[in-house]
Amino acid sequence: QAKASGKARYEVFNREMHTRALTRLKLENDLRRAIDRQEFIVYYQPIICLSTGQISSLEALVRWKHPQQGLVRPDHFIPVAEATGLIIPLGLWVLEKSCNQLKFWQQQAIQRGEIFDITISVNLSVKQFSQPGLIEQIDRVLESLELDSKNLKLEITESAIMDNPDLASEIFQQLKARKIQLSLDDFGTGYSSLSYLHRFPLDILKIDRSFISNLDSMEKNLEVVQAILNLAHHLGMSVVAEGIETQEQLSLLRLLGCELGQGYLFAQPLDPQATETLFLSHPQW
Ligand code: C2E
Ligand code: MG
Ligand code: MG
Ligand code: MG
Repeated sequence: QAKASGKARYEVFNREMHTRALTRLKLENDLRRAIDRQEFIVYYQPIICLSTGQISSLEALVRWKHPQQGLVRPDHFIPVAEATGLIIPLGLWVLEKSCNQLKFWQQQAIQRGEIFDITISVNLSVKQFSQPGLIEQIDRVLESLELDSKNLKLEITESAIMDNPDLASEIFQQLKARKIQLSLDDFGTGYSSLSYLHRFPLDILKIDRSFISNLDSMEKNLEVVQAILNLAHHLGMSVVAEGIETQEQLSLLRLLGCELGQGYLFAQPLDPQATETLFLSHPQW
């Protein structure tokens, strides 16, 4: 009896694993084909300068225009792209596409006789960051578009640094030489080993949205955010608060001296057309 039920359980378990493996394999195949067919679109979410209330940068956030499932969010496919190495061609595509878009918007502004000083922020996965030839790829994209490297910001996570600190140092130096700015994304969710931070020439620290979402509910969270701000400022970095959704959060962050903010209160990630409509309306929060 015991043996029989044990076997049954084993088979159920086995079947589940099998199904999961198949799902994953299908996702991988679909993703491979999607990259060939360029079934992706870059959305843009504004990052706001909290003192002026104006758009400072646009974060490029990729979506998959899936033929059956519609618009698929990156959390669903970036991990698989990362695990299979497909993130390398996909990441390059996002970099090219978003730099190209920025150049287009800059040229449009020139024709209108306006100044356009909004930068572009592009996410780099761990694998992309440690890939040989990253710097050459970036150079090639910027040169072919005649886009000033000061317009580009790169967002990396703590693990991109911690997986290989020596390599990270080397890449950082090369990016610094080009005046490309570096943001540390999702701060507080990873290693949070504060001691290494000062060793790297990071320009911007992005506080993860989990710290911002409960900012108004408890004094303790306020103190944590205050401490992160103090640390970042002490190290010469500016801070972006991610995931600002309420006016109260915005007011608190302004009081605390946070320089930059991003979140649904300002705008969700938008398609290129809606992004253009947004910045052409010269919003001020
Ligand atoms: P991330 O870089 O931390 O981007 C911010 C995420 O927070 C975005 O999710 C954005 O839509 C979401 N967000 C912004 N404001 C709010 C808010 O007020 N409330 C809530 N609930 N969410 C908010 P998204 O676009 O789904 O992207 C998820 C993650 O996927 C990104 O997190 C990034 O790690 C990754 N990702 C997106 N595009 C790329 C890419 O081109 N390359 C790489 N390597 N990763 C990417
Ligand atoms: Mg990011
Ligand atoms: Mg983030
Ligand atoms: Mg994130």
